[in-house]
Amino acid sequence: MRLWVVVAVLITGCGSKSRPVELRDKRVIGEVETDDLLSDRFFLEDEDCVEGSDPFTMKSVLARYLDFGNFKEFRVLNPGMLSQESFEAPGIASAGYGMKLERQCVDPSDNSTCQDKKIVKAATPLRICRVDGTYDRKSIEGIALSSAVQITRAFQFYQSIPGHRENLAKIFLNVLPLDVDLTSDGSQKSIKTDNLSYFRNFSGKPSIAILPKSAAAVRANKWNGYYLWEVPWAIIHEYGHHVMYSYGSDDVERSLTVPSTLSTESSGRRIVRESDIVDAVAEGYADLFAHLATGAKAGLLKGVDCVATRRDVTSKYFANGELKVLSREVIQRFFSVSPAGGSTVQQSCEIPRYQEPHTLGAIIAYTVHELLDHSAKATSLDDAGRITYKASKLLIWAEEINRVRTNQNELITFQALLKPIIRAIKDDGHLAPTSFCSKVGELFAGIKGGLDLDEVCPEFKP
Ligand SMILES: [Zn+2]
Repeated sequence: MRLWVVVAVLITGCGSKSRPVELRDKRVIGEVETDDLLSDRFFLEDEDCVEGSDPFTMKSVLARYLDFGNFKEFRVLNPGMLSQESFEAPGIASAGYGMKLERQCVDPSDNSTCQDKKIVKAATPLRICRVDGTYDRKSIEGIALSSAVQITRAFQFYQSIPGHRENLAKIFLNVLPLDVDLTSDGSQKSIKTDNLSYFRNFSGKPSIAILPKSAAAVRANKWNGYYLWEVPWAIIHEYGHHVMYSYGSDDVERSLTVPSTLSTESSGRRIVRESDIVDAVAEGYADLFAHLATGAKAGLLKGVDCVATRRDVTSKYFANGELKVLSREVIQRFFSVSPAGGSTVQQSCEIPRYQEPHTLGAIIAYTVHELLDHSAKATSLDDAGRITYKASKLLIWAEEINRVRTNQNELITFQALLKPIIRAIKDDGHLAPTSFCSKVGELFAGIKGGLDLDEVCPEFKP
């Protein structure tokens, strides 16, 4: 068994320790006018290195991350990071930067008017040569290293789960791709920003894309003083998508235009498909995985705009006080064909939008975690044991989600996708039937009749 040890040896206080950035024209994400659209001038710090080919093993890297609202820097020792033709690390096959994607749209705010996305410029393999791995935090290398440390952490957490698979595919880390929507006349309209994306099959490889921060986010004072890729939970959420979808044996491909994302902002569509149900469950799955892989602590997302309360699986309420339960009303709102809210209204990201997969996902993450936690607390397991118990249930759930998702003869419903994990918790027998039924009835009121639990919970009969 290969073993990598990631050790955080130095945790310093808050605040950016970046060296001043001299003005450079060598911006990696150039070509289009990005000054008005992006938060910063992101750049490649060590251009000579990219041209070379000597293999390197990095002794340590400096990474930055946000922890309970405080910005921290830490040095990671012996992370198994190599830089040959391209940077690689445990869980990461290769890394690249400078990719450009483009699609044309009649109306860029309406996905249905857009053509397929095309890669108009391939990623350049990213090599990182400094043995001590110290780079500016606005550099491509610094962004790659901070991201890679968290992907490796997610990968190693996955490997610690009993029953994990040894052959989980490694990720292609796509640093700051420029993903542009153009109007038909070719004038630039928008760049995908303020998010992270997972692609199951991006030109044949699973991929996590680190998207840039927008100037609009700076103006709105969002993610003030840090970047989303410096939020461990956010990158590990994307890895959670990777874990879940890796348990599918099908070749169903999500197109380049439909990634799983972190979604900090809205998308404006309203045709509900079976894939939307899967997406909502996948978002809940990824939130749960990220919660467990980051130590299962409450309040970890404190201060992270748009996700702080909403996506914390230990938080029973959305930021506006609405309860996270899978009620009949919530499900009706998800399936409603009429779009909720006017598109002209600039909605706060703290108001739950029930037609959006990440909102349903947040509810699913909370409710499933609550039931898991209830069951774990009925055992004699310690904190670490409870995390392992919950995580091992997630792997079984991933297999079942993919079985339902790819079975042509099975209707995809919330009931069908949630039944396996709920029943698995029942089968563990840690909870007395009355306690189990009362919890399920409270958390999953809108679907309890379809969970095939009538024998143990006769009150669920419709
Ligand atoms: Zn997601």
